[in-house]
Amino acid sequence: MTSIPSDYPIFGTEIRCPQCHQPIPALLLTDSYICPKHGAFEANPNTGELIHVQSGRCWHQWEGQWYRQHIHPDTLRFEIAEALEHLYQNGYRATQVIVAQRYKEMLGNSLEHHADWFEQFCFVKQRLYGVPVEFSPDQHTEPRWKIMNFEFQTEPGNPTNYTYPFLKAWR
Ligand SMILES: [Zn+2]
Repeated sequence: MTSIPSDYPIFGTEIRCPQCHQPIPALLLTDSYICPKHGAFEANPNTGELIHVQSGRCWHQWEGQWYRQHIHPDTLRFEIAEALEHLYQNGYRATQVIVAQRYKEMLGNSLEHHADWFEQFCFVKQRLYGVPVEFSPDQHTEPRWKIMNFEFQTEPGNPTNYTYPFLKAWR
């Protein structure tokens, strides 16, 4: 297969900045996008990654949304905390957080192990900020989990699960 060389980076002439969600332009004949607030982002045509040049933070896109790819449990936990706060402010309570399988090992030690007295001989529940944690299906079964980080089940319920950063789009 041959691809037609383009004057623009792989994501086109304009993207939404993954940090502030404002439309930001591509620089012609480069792989870069420039946000007036956040500086340069570089698109990698081979991996589909978008890298924030200054911080090295990395995002992947799934159905038009950017998902930060975490390499440290603290940044993932912070993103979950921020999303929980946002849910709470909008009148929802998270009853479960489903975290991508690919973070299982990384997140492992930072989860609170909580044993209910009547269940302590059966299994130990894992929690994060008091919310029960499950891990997603394998990314080969559900490819979105290759890129997405987590989603919530909430009360009151909603026809669709809450997936960050869709929450941000509501702001
Ligand atoms: Zn920005």
